[in-house]
Amino acid sequence: QAKELGRKRFAVFDEALAKGMVDVLAMESELRKALRQNEFEPYFQPICRLGDGKVVGYEALIRWNHPQRGLLRPSDFVKIAEDSGLIEAIDWRLFELSCRLLTQQAPSELFITFNVSALHLRHADFDVRILKMLERTGLAPSRLVTEVTEGALLDNPESVRAVLERLRSVGVGAALDDFGTGYSSLSYLHSLPLRMLKIDRAFVQELDKAGSSNSTTVVAAILALAHALNIQVIAEGIETQAQRDALVSMGCEMAQGYLLGSPAPMAHWMAGQKT
Ligand code: C2E
Ligand code: MG
Ligand code: MG
Ligand code: MG
Repeated sequence: QAKELGRKRFAVFDEALAKGMVDVLAMESELRKALRQNEFEPYFQPICRLGDGKVVGYEALIRWNHPQRGLLRPSDFVKIAEDSGLIEAIDWRLFELSCRLLTQQAPSELFITFNVSALHLRHADFDVRILKMLERTGLAPSRLVTEVTEGALLDNPESVRAVLERLRSVGVGAALDDFGTGYSSLSYLHSLPLRMLKIDRAFVQELDKAGSSNSTTVVAAILALAHALNIQVIAEGIETQAQRDALVSMGCEMAQGYLLGSPAPMAHWMAGQKT
């Protein structure tokens, strides 16, 4: 009986695995085609100063204009793009396009952030590639902030720190993304060359709920620590005025979220603006 069950389960597993492999292979070839046909597009989400709501920068977020399936978000394809090694080529295309759009269309005081994965940071010449790209696109280094996650930092702390230090020395900033969700070892914060820290939306979205005193304490502690280290703070994923009020009263300087603006093409933000 047990043997029978076991065999059956094995057969089901095998089939799912095979189906999964076919899907992955199909997706990989679609991703390659998408690169050739320029189907990836950066959407930009405004990052606002909380005091007066003024837009100070944008986070570039990848979207895939899939010819059949419509607009796809990172959760639909980034994992497979990473596993197949295609994410690097896709990202570089996206970074370059984002910088070019910012240079050509956005007022010169605005900065841009984009998401850099562990794979990129494994290359010791990541900073050199960034600088070349900035030259090609004409974006001033001080207008760029790379977003890295704690996971990517832990991968190889010494070499990542060296890359980020070299970027800082030429004016490119770094932001720690999704802070609070990973290891959140406070001990290394002071040793990293960070310009910004982004508090994960999991904490931000608790702020206006009943019994939110725990997340209020956590957010207040993160703010105090970051400010003591001269790191600016961006609250991610704010959706309500009450969350905004709470953040303002705690002294958080910047925020990003549907309340302030959802990700959209650059043309949407620049409509009607002269630069
Ligand atoms: P992330 O860097 O933490 O980006 C924030 C995500 O939160 C974005 O999802 C954004 O659309 C979403 N968001 C913004 N405001 C709100 C809000 O008020 N409420 C809620 N519920 N969500 C909000 P998105 O665009 O789907 O991106 C997901 C993740 O994919 C990003 O998380 C980032 O880790 C990754 N990603 C995005 N673009 C790229 C890219 O170009 N390259 C790579 N390697 N990864 C990327
Ligand atoms: Mg991010
Ligand atoms: Mg984030
Ligand atoms: Mg996040």
